[in-house]
Amino acid sequence: MTGPLQLDAETLNACVSCGLCLPHCPTYRVTGREIASPRGRIAAMRAVETNEAPIDDAFRAAMEECVSCRGCEPACPSGVQFGKLMETTRAALPSPRSRVRRGAEWFGYRVVLPRHWLLITCTWLAWLAQRLHLVPARVGLPRLSARSLARGLELPTGGTPDAWLFTGCVMDAWLRDTHRSAARVMGATGARLAQPTNGGACCGALHLHAGREAEARALAERVMQSMPGVAPVVVDSAGCGATMKEYGKLLGSADAHAFSERVRDFSEWLAHQAAPRLRPTGIQVVIQDPCHLRHVQKAHGAVREVLAPAYELLETADDGLCCGAGGAYVVTQPELSRRILDRKVEALRAAGGGADPIVVSANPGCMVQLRGAGIDARHPADLIAEALDE
Ligand code: SF4
Ligand code: SF4
Repeated sequence: MTGPLQLDAETLNACVSCGLCLPHCPTYRVTGREIASPRGRIAAMRAVETNEAPIDDAFRAAMEECVSCRGCEPACPSGVQFGKLMETTRAALPSPRSRVRRGAEWFGYRVVLPRHWLLITCTWLAWLAQRLHLVPARVGLPRLSARSLARGLELPTGGTPDAWLFTGCVMDAWLRDTHRSAARVMGATGARLAQPTNGGACCGALHLHAGREAEARALAERVMQSMPGVAPVVVDSAGCGATMKEYGKLLGSADAHAFSERVRDFSEWLAHQAAPRLRPTGIQVVIQDPCHLRHVQKAHGAVREVLAPAYELLETADDGLCCGAGGAYVVTQPELSRRILDRKVEALRAAGGGADPIVVSANPGCMVQLRGAGIDARHPADLIAEALDE
């Protein structure tokens, strides 16, 4: 099939419309609309690809309302690669009509995210605006820390480490203390660490979600060059890790496949090291599985493994349904994002026995989203660093 979306015919036709994915789709769960389900979206893609329907506003809305959580993939008995279909479809959509939106996307994706110094500068401005009470709470910006922003990570750059700690873009600007926790825990295993040598800071995950494949590919090349050698590349952001584990598919080169093989989520890497000594804290924490850790990396078991010696772990009963963060989804689809989040918060509170629980989440986007709803969300690295018995 070589229609306007350039989708792979085999992938598209793998869907047999059974509907088993529907309960696992957060947008279908909150709207009940077929077009907001994986099956409905695939049917719409098929209609466009066979020229039975145009790429109109309704089609664009159906594609943009998807959180790209990929919760539908493990639920699908036919193995439909929905993430690939959605990425290719979004890349084929024409530019949005709104000039304001085009300008904002160009500034965010093309100008700021690839230049880490500029992202840090913008974060300082946001910090100042926050202190002057100019940032409304609904924007969802986490409480920024001047102390954390002013101090680098103090890891060597380059060399031949035992493991690289990938620092990322937004996470390094907004949640650098979590990188410090990760470095401390990794150091406690005896590993010699390094951080990327150059500006290979943005992995391209946000670009890929937004259908900006060419930019994502360029960023992926830069990230790969920033961490040469064979040492594992440890990532403490589940969304970034998922994208970097798929660089092989994105770039198609032997180098990219080899790089992807080296990528490990923080907990996944830690579970295979000589475990640092942890004190049992007796503290209960509810686990929130970031979609890209659970459905894409399938590394959510490692989070439980590394936390269990120090914390009492509680599970939600919602089968890992998305929290509605999804890259820039909270900005582009605020109402749907809020409705999905409300369901998640309900499930987390129920798991915590009704009270506001401590929640552990391995993805910065989910942490920020949950904190915006008043949930005390922490990263596994922060919790483990607090329990280190040094
Ligand atoms: S990726 Fe998530 S939101 Fe999109 S169709 Fe699949 S389950 Fe639904
Ligand atoms: S995507 Fe998979 S689970 Fe969903 S309707 Fe199609 S075949 Fe069924």
